[in-house]
Parts: sequence; C-alpha cells; structure tokens
Amino acid sequence: MTQDYSMVLGLEIHMQLNTDSKMFCGCKNDPFESDANTNVCPVCLGLPGAMPVPNLNALKNAQLFAHSVGAKLQTKIIYERKNYFYPDLPKGFQLTCPHNPIAVGGSLNGINFREIHLEEDTAKSIHTDDLTLIDFNKSGVPLLEIVTEPDFTDIDQAVEFCKEIQLIARYLGVSEADMEKGNMRLEANISVRKPGQVELPNYRVEMKNINSFSFMKKALQHELRRQAETLVNGEVLVQETRGFNEVTGKTFSQRSKEEANDYRYFPEPDIPEIEVDDKWMSEITTRDVLLPSELRLKLKEKGLNDQYILRLVGDFSLYEKYLAVMDLGYSPSESANFVVNISEYKEKSPLEIDKIEKLKKTSKITDEAILSPIVETVINENSKVVSDFKSGNASAMQFLIGQVMKSTQGKADAQIVASILNKLLA
Ligand SMILES: [Zn+2]
Repeated sequence: MTQDYSMVLGLEIHMQLNTDSKMFCGCKNDPFESDANTNVCPVCLGLPGAMPVPNLNALKNAQLFAHSVGAKLQTKIIYERKNYFYPDLPKGFQLTCPHNPIAVGGSLNGINFREIHLEEDTAKSIHTDDLTLIDFNKSGVPLLEIVTEPDFTDIDQAVEFCKEIQLIARYLGVSEADMEKGNMRLEANISVRKPGQVELPNYRVEMKNINSFSFMKKALQHELRRQAETLVNGEVLVQETRGFNEVTGKTFSQRSKEEANDYRYFPEPDIPEIEVDDKWMSEITTRDVLLPSELRLKLKEKGLNDQYILRLVGDFSLYEKYLAVMDLGYSPSESANFVVNISEYKEKSPLEIDKIEKLKKTSKITDEAILSPIVETVINENSKVVSDFKSGNASAMQFLIGQVMKSTQGKADAQIVASILNKLLA
C-alpha cells in the first residue's frame, strides 16, 4: 500500500551549542547542571526590563557549522520575538531569527537546506505527581535550528543525514549533539503524494520529540503506512502534530498545528541588526577544519577497508588513538586492527599497546608441541629443499629454519627448530 504513494519528508534538527555562556546573558551554559536554578539571571529568567546581549562566540560557532555543512551564510541577521505562552518561557516570547537567519540554502549530500537559525532554548519542566517544577539552567542556552527542504525520498536516507550532521557538529566541536541527553533533537515533517505528483501535499504531519535514530526510523515507517492507508480508505489527512508510542508501535494525534502567523513575530527592539562584514565572513570561511567526509577519503587513500573507516570516522577519539599508535611505528592497517578489532586493547593506551606488541615479538616459542606441527608443514611444503638436505646440502637446513621463523613472525627458538628438523628428517 505504501508503494502507491511516495514520501515527502523534511527535517528540523535542534542542537544546543557548546559555549561558555548562554545566548543572551553571561550565565554559565551548562544545561545538565544538577543544582536546579543556579545558572540564572534576570535575562534568562525573563524578568521585565532585562537587556539581552547576543553571544558572539555562539554566533560564530553556528556560522562555522552552517558553512561546513554547505549552507550559505547571510550577511544580515535580525533577531525577532516569537510570541507564545508556555510555563518554561516566562517572558512570553523566544528570541530567534526567522526572517533573516544565519544561513539560507545550500546542500549536504543532495539535501537542500531551507534555513539555519540560532535561537535560545527554553527552561526545563519537571513534572511530579502533583506539581510541575521549572529549572531555568537550560533557559537561554544557544540552540541551533537546521531546517531542510522536504527532499528526503526514503527514511534511511534521513537517518544517515542526521548522523552526518551529528558527526560534523562533533568534529567542529560546536555541540556534543547527544540525542540521549537531549542536546540534539529531531522533528520530522512527513506527508505522502501520488508518484509523479509535482506539487506538495496540502497538509503535513509534524512528528516531535524524536530522541533516537531507531525511534525516528520506527516512527516514520509507521506514519508513512498510516497516511497511505488513510488515503486508500478514502479519508482525508489533516495538518497536525503526532507523537509515537514505542510500546504500541503507533503514532497518535497530539494537537492541530498552529499557523506560523500565530506567533506575531516582530523585531527585538533591544538587539540591533547584526551585519556580518567581509573580514568576519572570511574568518569563518577560511577556518581550517577537518570534516568526516574528508577523513573518509584520507583513510581510504591509506588503504583501510570500509569497516575500519566506518569505525574510525564515527568515533573521533578512536581515530586519535589510531594516529597515536601509528606514531609508534605501526602501519595504518596494523594500527586500525589494534584499535578497532582487538578487544583487549580497548582500555589500553597506545604506549601500553606498543609494549604488549613488542613483548609478543620478543617472547620466544620454545614449546616443541607448538613448534613440531609448524616444522612438519614446512617440510611438507618444501619437498625439493628437503631432498637437498638429505643429499648433504647444509644450507638447505638454514632455509627450512628460516621458513619456520617466517610463519611464527620470528618468535620460534631456532635451536629447538633445528633439533626438531634433525629428528624428523633423520
Ligand atoms: Zn542568565
């Protein structure tokens, strides 16, 4: 049934940025601070008359990210008030840049960006049995919002795209982008249309609070099926926000969607228009950064296989360990093998790995029970040399010992190998 319809899917990705201070005040940016309401001031508590001051580092990190994913940086950024009421937003509006965002357009892996905004996060509501508590440590934390065009043609492609965004943010060091902790959050806008239909459907369903990639995949698969079934049954789909229940495996309606103009946007009078001049722009665009796509190519050139590349690129600290092991004199594939495959090296430092490897190389094999079968194999594989030896050629013996050394990486005890050879060939 789903094959009768094609999917129209766009994403909104939110990421908290790593900065010392919050977006519009000097409070410490630590949304996971366990002591509630400690990193707060009149600005991020939303007290009347408090004056916001934009965080330039947050803005530059946001621009660096936007430029690195291929979005086009804008020279004019205007902060506006997005008006709505919610207990975790006591001033009654969120500061964001909807009409003059930090970047517009551009693409990553064939997916076009609509806009990239830098805004402020809200406070955190904690619901207990009989009351709701609010922690303002998260209020005003810099929040990047990445909005794509509805360009995804399948769900796996969307998941891969989000993983790449996550990796890039981590490589640039602009966000931890951890979905479990909530510093990366996904929203999907999904609808369906008949294959060949050019215009977008007249509705879309917004799926919020997607907190893992596997959740995303399951929720979207179900929603795609539900929408196709609804249309096949002759019913009409409506604009709404839906959640996903992992227990039932089904999506459910949460609320009908607010229209954009409900927010009554207007420019924030206390923040002047921000102009990005050429010097500022080139500071961002000429920064020397390493991106995951570049690292993939680099490792491929080193001759590493896809499995090694996937693991090393996906975990930057593992890649750094790989480099440190190489610095001790190992080849790329040896180093990759040590850090990716050998579980006993997982907790070991590069120097410890080197020590164990050296020990392995120097420790002699003296056990006849281990050496005899290796000597026998060498004898069987070198019948010509063996007959030379039997006819009195002394150097043939050295050759056979050499073969045993080769197959034991030099660890066999040469004297014992010689005595086993003499015994077997007597
Ligand atoms: Zn504050």
